Amino acid sequence: MRCDSQFVFADEFISYKFKDDHPFNQLRVTMTKDLLEKEKALREDQIIAPRMASEDDLKLFHSSAYVEAVKRASEGLLSEEQGFEYGIGTEDTPMFEGMHDASSLLVGSTLSAIDAVIQGKTKHALNLGGGLHHGFERKASGFCVYNDGAVGIKYIRKHTDYKVLYVDTDAHHGDGVQWAFYDDPNVCTFSIHETGRYLFPGTGNVNERGLKKGYGYSFNLPIDAFTEDESFLEVYEYAFNEIVEYFQPDIIITQNGADAHYLDPLTHLCSTMKIYERIPMIAHELAHKYCDGKWVALGGGGYDIWRVVPRAWSQLWKVMSTGEPFSGPLPADWVSHWQKSSPVDLPSQWEDGEHSYKPIPRKAEITEKNNKVLTSCMQFIHNQKKYNSSI
Ligand SMILES: [Zn+2]
Ligand SMILES: [Zn+2]
Repeated sequence: MRCDSQFVFADEFISYKFKDDHPFNQLRVTMTKDLLEKEKALREDQIIAPRMASEDDLKLFHSSAYVEAVKRASEGLLSEEQGFEYGIGTEDTPMFEGMHDASSLLVGSTLSAIDAVIQGKTKHALNLGGGLHHGFERKASGFCVYNDGAVGIKYIRKHTDYKVLYVDTDAHHGDGVQWAFYDDPNVCTFSIHETGRYLFPGTGNVNERGLKKGYGYSFNLPIDAFTEDESFLEVYEYAFNEIVEYFQPDIIITQNGADAHYLDPLTHLCSTMKIYERIPMIAHELAHKYCDGKWVALGGGGYDIWRVVPRAWSQLWKVMSTGEPFSGPLPADWVSHWQKSSPVDLPSQWEDGEHSYKPIPRKAEITEKNNKVLTSCMQFIHNQKKYNSSI
């Protein structure tokens, strides 16, 4: 199904850059756009220029003191000690010149995507520059300065009475967004991620179910390291279907980090391109079924910017705008162009070949463990269903 979709993009996304050798590299968005253009899958009239987030926008979620600190860091006026208080200037999230503007643009891009959808200009919108899910109210964390997802959801709640479902498939827990709405029954968060036992940020336990009125509106599926496509998709699809049916959202926001791939250097999941075809298809289907199509997708993590992210994010856009993923060979001119800069051999196909990584010996055990986590994650909904059918 072809759908009205908009793609938010600005060349300036690249200015969100900590250091030359830092793993977070927005060149991946430029590479994705180029891949889509070479596939003739992105038209000029589908691209929208983002607006800048104002300070008032940022303060929908972030504290004034934090925004001031980022502004000072931006001009090189924040001391190391002051920075430490706000999580800025760490090894993960170093200070850089112009960081306030660069970060505000990513938030503004998410707000532009949201505006397009809530004003009814389009059914779906994508901001690959966003998805910075680790940002906290008064603290930077894990490569994230401002949390565009959290600001965006506050913005939706300010301008509409929509119930918002936030779904995070990044390999890391979507902690910043979860805690932002932990006591809010109008915003339901669902994150599938590699268990925090060995991976940043360490949270996202299945028992984090929300607080006060928000209890029962926070869902976590911490899956085992070395989880492969089959088990990932099995537990994810089941949970997403159950959650959307239970919560009945008016709009879905997805964070589409692409760091669960077996080639990703920062995580230990073992998925292939298969999940990056399936993840947007599920979101697309459920957004039409429950939300009259209202779906805003964001980027996120993804640290193999050569072999993984451009393919994964192009599939997201392709599914969003046409309902179907790409298959077969990648455009040869895209491969030859980017191969010149890439330190590794670029793939030639949309799909990963069979047996592209060594077999995982603990496969059965991992699948069983993930199924147990799923049962526990769904416990609240299942109890609720039992209760409702008994009265
Ligand atoms: Zn659609
Ligand atoms: Zn991540």
